[in-house]
Amino acid sequence: MTSTSAAAAARATVLGYPRQGPHRELKKAVEGYWKGHVSADALESTAAALRRATWQQLAEAGVHEVPTGDFSYYDHVLDTTVMVGAIPARHRAAVAADRSPSSQLRPRGRGCPIDVYFAMARGTQDVAPLEMTKWFDTNYHYLVPELGPDTVFAADSVKQVTELREALALGLAARPVLLGPVSYLLLAKPAPGVAAGFDPLTLLDRLLPVYAEVLADLRAAGARWVQLDEPALVQDRSPAELDAAARAYRGLGALTDRPQLLLASYFDRLGEALPVLAKAPVEGLALDFTGAAAGNLADLAAAGGLPGKRLVAGVVDGRNVWLNDFEKSLATLGTLLGLAERVDVSSSCSLLHVPLDVGMEREIDPQIARWLAFARQKTAEVVTLARGLSRGTGAIAAELAANRADLASRSGSQLTHDPAVRARAAAVIGADGRRSAPYAERAAAQRAHLGLPLLPTTTIGSFPQTDQLRAARAALRAGRIDAAAYDERIAAEICEVLAFQEKAGLDVLVHGEPERNDMVQYFAEQLTGYLATQHGWVQSYGTRCVRPPILAGDISRPEPMTVRWTQYAQSLTDRPVKGMLTGPVTMLAWSFVRDDQPLADTARQVALALRDEVNDLEAGGSSVIQVDEPALRETLPLRRAGHAEYLAWATEAFRLTTGGVRPDTQIHTHMCYAEFGDILRAIDDLDADVISLEAARSHMQVAGELATAGYPREVGPGVYDIHSPRVPGTHEATALLRKALEAIPAERLWVNPDCGLKTRGWPEVRTALENLVAAARGLRGEL
Ligand code: GLN
Ligand code: ZN
Repeated sequence: MTSTSAAAAARATVLGYPRQGPHRELKKAVEGYWKGHVSADALESTAAALRRATWQQLAEAGVHEVPTGDFSYYDHVLDTTVMVGAIPARHRAAVAADRSPSSQLRPRGRGCPIDVYFAMARGTQDVAPLEMTKWFDTNYHYLVPELGPDTVFAADSVKQVTELREALALGLAARPVLLGPVSYLLLAKPAPGVAAGFDPLTLLDRLLPVYAEVLADLRAAGARWVQLDEPALVQDRSPAELDAAARAYRGLGALTDRPQLLLASYFDRLGEALPVLAKAPVEGLALDFTGAAAGNLADLAAAGGLPGKRLVAGVVDGRNVWLNDFEKSLATLGTLLGLAERVDVSSSCSLLHVPLDVGMEREIDPQIARWLAFARQKTAEVVTLARGLSRGTGAIAAELAANRADLASRSGSQLTHDPAVRARAAAVIGADGRRSAPYAERAAAQRAHLGLPLLPTTTIGSFPQTDQLRAARAALRAGRIDAAAYDERIAAEICEVLAFQEKAGLDVLVHGEPERNDMVQYFAEQLTGYLATQHGWVQSYGTRCVRPPILAGDISRPEPMTVRWTQYAQSLTDRPVKGMLTGPVTMLAWSFVRDDQPLADTARQVALALRDEVNDLEAGGSSVIQVDEPALRETLPLRRAGHAEYLAWATEAFRLTTGGVRPDTQIHTHMCYAEFGDILRAIDDLDADVISLEAARSHMQVAGELATAGYPREVGPGVYDIHSPRVPGTHEATALLRKALEAIPAERLWVNPDCGLKTRGWPEVRTALENLVAAARGLRGEL
């Protein structure tokens, strides 16, 4: 096959699309169903209308083959659990036993009764939901399949077949999207009661016949191609796991009654898995050629390409919000033409991870909006690139010229190149990221300065975000109250939070964060270089959507951000009030970041802006300052090869933020996840004086891990699980603290909850914190 005939065939597609609708219609319908305002039929028709609108819009934009089956009421991994019949018995039983009208089984429609589906997602009064965890290194969360040696799979293709038929009925070429069997098993965990050593991948041979059945059903329904997503193969995989992948696709490839198979991977390069998939007897591969996955290009060439296969080239980044560089993408596509039978153009992954449409944004400067591309704009880019590839650049001359102009406007803008910010970042020297005294000296100075008791008690920052507070914020936005009235409301709240903490007997107090809508957005709104969107929602999990701010330019801090409220809180008490900031890595992790400079450079700019804030807090009288980094581990690169470099710049950014204070100023940090194994060294490298961590749910495991690793500084492992409305009793907190004391000496142990209290109610928080203080006091008496 010559490259010209390959070029003539280039088609445009995307690997998946946002599901919520332009005004989050799906979220509203699902939540309405949960509350009983929306009937199951109404929910189903809202969903079908959203799917239809998406496909029609994709087709009108020029997409040749639309994805189907990627829609979900809650989560696509949960949909896969339904598809393979791995529904835990506790969820079936819980719903079957519940006679309330809202949870009647619905025999019609979906294969799985919708209330069983939502029971898996959210739990019921009596049974726990499936565990939720992050989808690779994105901010999307999936429900973890629970499997065991007794799991019996059974094919349920109703959802896939229904959605395919809907798209075919519109006269469109449609490609069902399934999570592949290998990734499904690699994303699963042993079911409760099953030995932790159980490896779900041992179920592969049992699972493959189920996939075979679904593939046959899809073929019978009219599918010509099916996309099988195998993103788990871009992570470090053992030879046994790669063998399993080879076996799976030899098996599925050998089926006669099946559609053509497109194996899709994304988020990183396939590495050792590339030859495995390239050799598999399937008809096509979809590969990511953006960001961390750009290495796929050289790897593919080295592997001899994909002779005889279809290559779906992901050249439009499905993770960021920036316009594509057409010339660069066309160059990549041109190289790829010689490496496959046929090359199609696509997004690098599902567009689920980006907002829907820049066109809805009214408050972003129109010139800057031209640098942005959300799902709708990215779709148009894919179509343009496919046209350019098929018919030559002459066919897209106008688009190329506009693209070139927009890229030039971005790179030449003052927003992206602030000389003062750049000069400051370039002048950073090693000493800026080092405290002026070693830890032992600092600890003594802080002990003398702060005069805290043994086992000091504190909280992580936020107190309950009440309806009144949210209402006040909404009223301010709507102009129903002025800034002065809003500030009065905040001040009153701070007074109440301080009064409670003094009365409860806490030692290091917080102002409670009532003025913060969100721990990243609050700072993003005050930093130059960040953009906010009005409609830029992306799904975080289930019906929860977030609007991450966009880190668009060079970052600077025009004025102090938190000093006023911190000082106000300190003026109300003699005890130390902790200043409270979000750390540089978390600011990046929960924003859309720049793609025009290394992340390390962006992190350094944010760190310098935060450093000024830390220093201003100290100058304003704060003796204790906490810099939260709950996302430090989340942003670890998918492959271990990238860990060291990431952790080096991430910890440097933290130290740059906190390195400018006096030895007797105590720096705290906070993280909330239970597994620290692979970042213990990095935690040490932060050189924070005190770290608070989530530990209540994992029974203090982290205390032992830190001790074993020789962690020398002070630690506050949480003794109150704030994810649950349960209030821990004094005995329970005491028992957890005794456990912690086995690993950490009393001189270095703090007493605090797992995380902030913003999602909890006041009555629970009051009792829980009183119990926590009582536990600390009881133990102090014994020591
Ligand atoms: N200081 C923040 C709070 O208490 C920390 C939140 C977090 O770790 N996610 O709300
Ligand atoms: Zn936390």
